[in-house]
Amino acid sequence: MASANGSPTVVKAARLIDCTDGSSRENMAVVVENGRIARVSPQHELAFPEGARPEVHDFGDATLLPGLIDCHTHTNMRGDGSSVDDVHEDDDDIHLIQGVRSARLAIESGVTTMRENGGWNRTTFSLKEGIRRGLVPGPRIVNCGRPITMTGGHCWMMGSQADGVDGVRKEVRRLVAEGADYIKVMSSGGSTRNSVPTRASYSLEELAAIVDEAHVRGRLVGAHAHAVQAIANCLDAGVDMIIHCTFSNPDGSISLDQSLADRIAESGVWVNPTLWIIMLQIRHLEQKQDEEGLNREEETLLEASRYRVSRRLEVHRPLFESGARFIGGSDCGWGAYPFGQFHEELKALTTVGLSSKQALLAGTRDAAEAVGLPDSIGTLEAGKEADLLVVEGDPSRDLDDLTRVAAVFQAGQRVK
Ligand SMILES: [Zn+2]
Repeated sequence: MASANGSPTVVKAARLIDCTDGSSRENMAVVVENGRIARVSPQHELAFPEGARPEVHDFGDATLLPGLIDCHTHTNMRGDGSSVDDVHEDDDDIHLIQGVRSARLAIESGVTTMRENGGWNRTTFSLKEGIRRGLVPGPRIVNCGRPITMTGGHCWMMGSQADGVDGVRKEVRRLVAEGADYIKVMSSGGSTRNSVPTRASYSLEELAAIVDEAHVRGRLVGAHAHAVQAIANCLDAGVDMIIHCTFSNPDGSISLDQSLADRIAESGVWVNPTLWIIMLQIRHLEQKQDEEGLNREEETLLEASRYRVSRRLEVHRPLFESGARFIGGSDCGWGAYPFGQFHEELKALTTVGLSSKQALLAGTRDAAEAVGLPDSIGTLEAGKEADLLVVEGDPSRDLDDLTRVAAVFQAGQRVK
């Protein structure tokens, strides 16, 4: 952004991670003009035309990196352990107000772009527009609006139930007409009461029709998929991102299908494993167990969550080793995962084999590509949006340093 006198803005710090490759450089500066990065250069080479009086933000011994991109959020959800059925009892006004709170927490934590994975009715479209107008603070939103789901399927209550090839095509068209930036589909069941996570929800024909209709309209497709059959359908239909990718068998067990893993790697489809949300659930339950004890239902849930985490790690480690492209998407808002803690999912990615640097790229450069915006966000390079995060410490060594936020800039404007 140009400062008040029409001159550029300069942001300086001791370290810069431009996230083109995860390496860091010392004593660099980012020059911002009209909301975009004009150049990235060593501080000692900074020069401006005579009369130009740049507005300088010098953060000293800190690290400058691109704003984070969380590929998976649910702004309507409370992130306090409430279920989707609980939140369904709220009306849309409350869903939207919850969204305003979620967006503020996200941007203040350094998430400058979030891919919203589904909310009620038109509430996430309204949130996106409110942020665009500057009425409330928040990240730029890549929005699906509502997830497409089979009648009675996972998240049916959000408002986009559709069945049959004609029905799902029509729903894609409706969402695109309402302003959807991409299409989210529930290709298996999930945690919604009466939906079955271990079974595919849509036939291959239906899923392929969704992908075809979306791609014709220039929209990417992200598919929620727990069941092995749903993952296979996603690959056959050509979806762009597989979410959760649990490898659940019909009997509820979780095991790797190596040939499917190889196909995932070969296809280049993005995988959003959503690991921290289950680890966090275990942590909450263990804490409660220590403090006041668990009831029968909670004990069962703790046991199931421990099984899911240990099996997920057993499945996702070889999947990553096989060459699958993993991406950072928190699923925050859902379950007990609050907004503002995206770094926890990036840290969780290191438990399946990503290095800290790779995890950082999974929340910046690679995330930008996965959400279809590689030319405008995700790295600090000339021409891109000036979405900047400044933190104390060095997050390429310790991802916890992502929580030590000194400043956030969105399109060159300082928002924190
Ligand atoms: Zn989700």
